[in-house]
Amino acid sequence: MTNQLSPLYDKKVLCLYCKNTFHSKRVRSSFIRIKTIDSDFCKVYKEEMINPLFYETDVCPDCGFASTEAFSLEFPNGAKDEIAKQFENWKTQEFGKERTVSDAIKAMKLAILSANLKRENRIVIGGLCLRLAWIYRSIEDYNQERRFLLAAYLDYEVSYERGDYIGTKMTELRLLYLLGELARRIEKREKAGLYFTRVIQHKKRATETKIVEMAREQWYIMRNQEQVNPTK
Ligand SMILES: [Zn+2]
Repeated sequence: MTNQLSPLYDKKVLCLYCKNTFHSKRVRSSFIRIKTIDSDFCKVYKEEMINPLFYETDVCPDCGFASTEAFSLEFPNGAKDEIAKQFENWKTQEFGKERTVSDAIKAMKLAILSANLKRENRIVIGGLCLRLAWIYRSIEDYNQERRFLLAAYLDYEVSYERGDYIGTKMTELRLLYLLGELARRIEKREKAGLYFTRVIQHKKRATETKIVEMAREQWYIMRNQEQVNPTK
């Protein structure tokens, strides 16, 4: 008797842009085993290849437009023309199978491109860049990781200014913490200190004590590093 359940299953997806339906894999929740969580909320999984992050983006095989469940359904004026132009030469590509790291990177880059063309909220674009940085971290490509941490940081700064994170799962405290932590990781120390302080002194600090605690810890780590390398 074979009773082996695959960690992956097929989910039917609708392309937001061309309305084609196709299948994309997802990881069954019973197979997801988290080993650790990094200080920027990157989850490290016990089994490297069963990584839900690899399957968060749905790439339409017909038109190339890629999205995640965080995308809004609306397309602003002119965005569809931009997308048509950008994907003019797209040749059918299948992302609906099990994905390698390099497939996951390609899919995430297509989602970042699509999100920019459709002028998606910056909280969404920043989230995609952060996820791409995490994928690069998992293969120890630290240059590319840093490049996309910086991109995420810049998008999150705009999101904070515009307030386009309001109404999503991202809270103000969590966003301020992430800005501090991303700034710390890309060595914008002054900015990191500024954002951590804003978390620690925030009037809503009693509502998210875990985040406040993390801000204190990361700030402490950063100050210790400064003492070790006083010239930096
Ligand atoms: Zn499509």
